[in-house]
Amino acid sequence: MKTSSKPGCLASIMNLLGGKPDPVSIHSDADETDVETFPYRVRDDFLSPAEQSFYQVIKSMMGEHLTICSKVSLADIFFVVRPNENRGAFNRINRKHVDFLICDPKTMRPRFAIELDDSSHQRSDREIRDEFVDNVFEAAGLPLIHVPVRSAYNTSELGVLFKQALQQNSENGKPIVSSPAPDQPAQPGQQGVSNRAPFCPKCGQPMVLRTAKNSDKAGQPFYGCVNYPKCREILPANILNNPTQ
Ligand SMILES: [Zn+2]
Repeated sequence: MKTSSKPGCLASIMNLLGGKPDPVSIHSDADETDVETFPYRVRDDFLSPAEQSFYQVIKSMMGEHLTICSKVSLADIFFVVRPNENRGAFNRINRKHVDFLICDPKTMRPRFAIELDDSSHQRSDREIRDEFVDNVFEAAGLPLIHVPVRSAYNTSELGVLFKQALQQNSENGKPIVSSPAPDQPAQPGQQGVSNRAPFCPKCGQPMVLRTAKNSDKAGQPFYGCVNYPKCREILPANILNNPTQ
């Protein structure tokens, strides 16, 4: 969006100073009518005062050890295991978000999430929504903490909750031993999903035999998840020969 051509220097300075020149007069050029096609402005209330206050508290607690993301869509955090069979599942999370997602600062892997509960969470429609969101987090194994809005927060109490969530997240992160119980071993080199493939420990779907392209294992076969890159679970190609591996 250009603002410097017609309206002159004064209008530009007014813009810098936070003045709000009449959009009609300033964008009267034919090539600037896109201001109506894109009627967007930055919200001044991206975080509410309560959210802002809580954010400062948890930021001082977490420092460099954890990264805080605000207002993250559930569709950015979770994926649907079988998208073709479960279209409704995506729609149910698509327009919902959590107040804060806490991530590992190096990998940005989600560790846990926080909902800041104000009085609106006592409304019946809100309670239904909260219960659904709780179930989504529980199903995916990502801890979700509810913190009631306060004028001041007890940081030692919060610290205990955060530690518990981190511990729970680490436990959930351990690979679950799946029990595909195949009766025949996989044949390295065979591409595609077969009934002899192991099941993804995370998605429960048959995995795909792939060949490593990078790293020191280039050229070697391995089992990857069909939901890659959303799911990066891998298993060794000989997993069915050595189920204990
Ligand atoms: Zn998977």
